[in-house]
Amino acid sequence: MSQFERRQILTTGAGLLLGAAVAAPAGQAQNQPPNRMKVMVVGAHPDDPETGCGGTICRYTDEGHEVVVVYLTRGEGGIAGRPHDEAAAIRTEEATRACAIMKARPRFLEQVDGETEINARCYSDFHKVIDEEKPDLCFTHWPIDTHRDHRIASMLAYDAWLCLGRPYSLYYYEVLTGAQSQNFHPTHYIDISGTEERKRQACSAHASQGAGNLEGVYGHHDAMNRFRGMEAGCQFAEAFVRQSQYQDEIVPTGIKA
Ligand SMILES: [Zn+2]
Repeated sequence: MSQFERRQILTTGAGLLLGAAVAAPAGQAQNQPPNRMKVMVVGAHPDDPETGCGGTICRYTDEGHEVVVVYLTRGEGGIAGRPHDEAAAIRTEEATRACAIMKARPRFLEQVDGETEINARCYSDFHKVIDEEKPDLCFTHWPIDTHRDHRIASMLAYDAWLCLGRPYSLYYYEVLTGAQSQNFHPTHYIDISGTEERKRQACSAHASQGAGNLEGVYGHHDAMNRFRGMEAGCQFAEAFVRQSQYQDEIVPTGIKA
């Protein structure tokens, strides 16, 4: 894809989310924008992409863009008292249900929760995923995080971006800032006031984690959504840090500086 074509895509996408009506060419599905983007969201565990940018995922899919959610692990270490295979099966089903709510496609890589690795082979394996998916835009964990798996997921996405010639726009999302993400200072926001309810439903699909419970974990996400909303001037927002040095100095769909 040429730089000009990519610029057209990002510009058009921003217009779509700002409410511009764009007629679909003859033969094109009506719910697909003329320059449909491929968006990838990389998370270490089932529920990370949902909590970090579930509202944003819904905004993209609502506009007809394709979103693939890449889970580095199946969260097999995340249910106390359950062996890895049982926990993996439960959490794979939960993540699949969450993705159905967000109208995204899940893809599971086969690293192990709590034991994720980063080495030359892991980098190479992740490059192959990028080659297959060919995203225009990628969201991944902010790298300064108390959870080792989150840091590794972030570095895999960054390394592929760097080594493959910066082929996609890269943004970092936060999870449980303060407890997990550290030193996170947003450069961009997406208004999720219209999709926050579905974000909560997607998080609720992770019943084994209590992720949709307002009295529990979702209470933290709810506070973050509201706080970022105050910063962005809307009810609920998700916040991001943009990776610099992307070839196009244009913000992607729905993101404002
Ligand atoms: Zn996680």
